[in-house]
Formats: sequence, C-alpha cells, structure tokens
Amino acid sequence: MTSYDADLLVVGGGPGGLATALHARRRGLSVVVVEPRDGPVDKACGEGLMPGGLSELTALGVDPAGMPFRGIAYVSDRRRAQARFRNGPGRGVRRTTLHAALEARAKQQDTEWIRARVTAVEQDAGGVTAAGVRAKWLVAADGLHSTVRRAVGITARAGTPRRYGVRRHFRVPAWSEFVEVHWSRWGEAYVTPVEPDLVGVAILSRGRPDLAWFPELERRLAGADRGPARGCGPLRQVVSRRVAGRVLLVGDAAGYEDALTGEGISLAVKQAAAVIDAIAADAPASYEAAWHRVTRDYRWLTRALVLASAPPLTRRAVVPVSTLLPPAFRWGVNILGS
Ligand SMILES: Cc1cc2nc3c(=O)[nH]c(=O)nc-3n(C[C@H](O)[C@H](O)[C@H](O)COP(=O)(O)OP(=O)(O)OC[C@H]3O[C@@H](n4cnc5c(N)ncnc54)[C@H](O)[C@@H]3O)c2cc1C
Repeated sequence: MTSYDADLLVVGGGPGGLATALHARRRGLSVVVVEPRDGPVDKACGEGLMPGGLSELTALGVDPAGMPFRGIAYVSDRRRAQARFRNGPGRGVRRTTLHAALEARAKQQDTEWIRARVTAVEQDAGGVTAAGVRAKWLVAADGLHSTVRRAVGITARAGTPRRYGVRRHFRVPAWSEFVEVHWSRWGEAYVTPVEPDLVGVAILSRGRPDLAWFPELERRLAGADRGPARGCGPLRQVVSRRVAGRVLLVGDAAGYEDALTGEGISLAVKQAAAVIDAIAADAPASYEAAWHRVTRDYRWLTRALVLASAPPLTRRAVVPVSTLLPPAFRWGVNILGS
C-alpha cells in the first residue's frame, strides 16, 4: 500500500510528542497527533524547565508563562548548597500551562488531532498504522509505561532502586529564586515556584511519601491550601532499544532514569529534534546513537546520584559535601541545566 494519511503519526500529546510534531512541521511533514485526554493535560511533575530545554521550546515558538528560577539549591538540617545557572534562568511552569502553550502552537502549525488511545500498531515495509491512521512514520511519545513500545516488541523493565514520585501544589508565596531540593533520610522534596503564590512540591522516594520527613518545609507549608496529589512510577525504566522499523520512541517512552535531576521535559524536547533529523534523513537507525548522545550526561549523572544516595551513610553526606565543594556542585548543576 503506498497511500498515506500523514507523513508522521505522533502517539502522545505530552511535551515529547508535541515538540516532535513542531519539529516535523518545520521540515514540511504532515502530522497527526493522537492523544486520549482533553487538554490542558496535567501530570505528576516537578514542573521545572531547565534553561537548555526552555530555550529549545522558545525556539519552537512556545513561551509558556511561569516563574523564573536562577539555579538549584540542596537543603537539609539548616545546611544549604546552591548554584546558579550560567546560561540564564530556568522556568517553573505548571504542566497544564505548558500543555496549553504546546497544544496552541501545534494547532497553529496545522497539525491534525485525534482523540483516542492507541492500543495496537501494525507496520510493513512502507508504513505504519495505528488509531485508524496510516503514516510513513510513527513516533511514540506515550510516556513511562508506553503502550506502543510494548506493541512493537521493544522490551522494558523497571530498574532498581524502585522509586516513585508524587506532586502537590501549595498556595503560598514563592520564597526562593531557586528550585530547592530538600533531602531527608527517606526521600527528596523538590520545590518549584510556578506562580507568584503557588509552589509545586514533588516528593521522590521508595515508599509512601510524607511531608513530615521535611520538617522545615512542612512548617513553611502549614495551613496552605493544597491541590490534589498526582503520582507515578516506578521511575527507572530500562528500555532495550528505541527503534523498531518505522516506529521510534521519544521522551519517557524511550527510557527514564529518575526525576531527581529535573530534566525529563528538556530531554524529551531535545530527543524530538533528533528523531525528526533521523526521519528527515530516512535513516531511522541513526536515532539510536543520537538518543544516547542527547541523554548521556543526564543518564550518568542522575544514575550516579541515585546510587550514591541510596545507602544511608552516603545519603546523609550529599548536602554537606555539596556545601563543601561549591565548584563541583556548580559544575553538576550546569551540566544538567544546559
Ligand atoms: C515526580 C516527578 C517530577 C518530575 N519533575 C520534573 C521537572 O521538574 N522537570 C522536568 O523537566 N521533568 C520532570 N519530570 C519528568 C517529566 O515529567 C517527564 O520526563 C515528561 O513529562 C516526559 O514527557 P513525555 O511527553 O515523554 O511523556 P508524558 O508527559 O507522560 O506524556 C505522554 C502523553 O501520552 C499520552 N498517552 C499515554 N498513553 C497513550 C496511548 N496509548 N495512546 C495515545 N496517547 C497516550 C498521555 O495522555 C500523555 O499526554 C518529573 C517526573 C516526575 C514523575
């Protein structure tokens, strides 16, 4: 069969899928996006856009409202290590705000949308079909537990340690120009200002999260109106490969380490550029190496931090060591922010 409904079918209308759609439209490809949820879509997320990811988004014409943050601070027991980004601020942006901005831009760029959940994928040498659409290529950006990934036979397993994330919003005036990561024995609480009087708190841990693990933070948030909790996990997803014929994986669907370094959206947006380069060159296999290149620093730094902070003894040392070695802390923050 040689006729197509579109050049590219994007499964998943999150940041990875919509950035892919925008890159594809820039190359003149026709795009259909399949997303089951009505916008604006929310998700468990720390909501911090790193400077590198933010500049990729603005280059795509997406400039969502939010709160600038100057860097990252690690906090515990009245100790604080903080480092500024060298290349301008990041931005705390509510997921619903980000989704609305991405969706508006994608629609303005003539993408077609179908409201459906993909459950099966068929492909042959010339094309791929899902949700009743036949396209030359399919990019799956359907998240951590990707259905498309499974449907095309790409294996994935939850890695160790098994960690989960839960986020809530608290209506209090933002008190810091930094994303604060509060460390306790049992988990980390990641505080991102997203509006002048609203902060998001994402707790990452192996078990059921509890704000009482972070007494200083709990005091600050006492009495504040709080939004519903949203959770997801296990966070670490080890994915065997990212390309199966004409199907390519982007964002969390392509594999994920941990939310501790707050990079997932930026990485998804960078992978979107790489996947469209590979498709435009008719060289899908080249995407595997490009994915490894784009995600390398994040994977090794995040993995190293998660493993180093797993044993209680080294975990207690994370913040003190960060305060004692400002250049090393600044270096790590800027690698992840770039
Ligand atoms: C607690 C926590 C804190 C985090 N903090 C940050 C942070 O501060 N900064 C940061 O950059 N990243 C953070 N992340 C990571 C970030 O949320 C993800 O990396 C990012 O959302 C990945 O985008 P995506 O488009 O790949 O997937 P998603 O955002 O998950 O989007 C997937 C989309 O696919 C759709 N979908 C699912 N199944 C199907 C199907 N079968 N058919 C069609 N559509 C489907 C979903 O409805 C959804 O809209 C955090 C993650 C967690 C869990």
